[in-house]
Amino acid sequence: MTRLIFLGAPGAGKGTQAQILAESCGIPHISTGDILRAQVKEQTELGIKAKAYMDKGELLPDSLILDMIRARLSQADAVNAGWILDGFPRNVAQAEFLDRLLTEIGQSYDLVIDIHVPQDRLVARLLNRATIQNRPDDTEDVIRRRLVVYDEQTVPLTDYYQHKGILRSVDGDRELAEVTHHLESLVN
Ligand code: ADP
Repeated sequence: MTRLIFLGAPGAGKGTQAQILAESCGIPHISTGDILRAQVKEQTELGIKAKAYMDKGELLPDSLILDMIRARLSQADAVNAGWILDGFPRNVAQAEFLDRLLTEIGQSYDLVIDIHVPQDRLVARLLNRATIQNRPDDTEDVIRRRLVVYDEQTVPLTDYYQHKGILRSVDGDRELAEVTHHLESLVN
């Protein structure tokens, strides 16, 4: 059973790589960003609240995220096959919650993979994506805010997982297929 946590700044290619790897491992790709965007589209209660934070590049309060994660990781596909978590945890409180939750439901993770790309490349990639995809949080101001939030809140997680000895860093500033190849070599 493979269970992985993906870290990486906005624009690092984390979502794309997580999706490819999840498919090749035959496990669910659990992206909190994708789940939230679907909720926004359906205008659910959560989606309406989430949109205000997402459009500004801010994290949602943990209280809005934790139940969603608990419910998703308890679904049969995740229980039976494993998972790749993409976009969660995003701060130390969420990482601690995840550890408690997994103990409670009898799961654990194998590795935390940090896909690293230099800051100036991230902005260029995201602005480029904005011309093909229409995500309301891909404007330059919001991109810069998402990167600051990532540095302040999510980067400290690398220490958290480094101490556990399960962090692997991958250079994401390469051809997509090369990065995929590196990731596959880590999990196989
Ligand atoms: P990116 O990594 O490109 O910033 P995501 O698709 O992972 O994008 O997330 C988009 C937005 O969804 C975030 O900016 C944030 O507002 C919200 N979000 C996603 N995951 C979380 C989380 N674990 N905690 C709080 N907010 C989240």
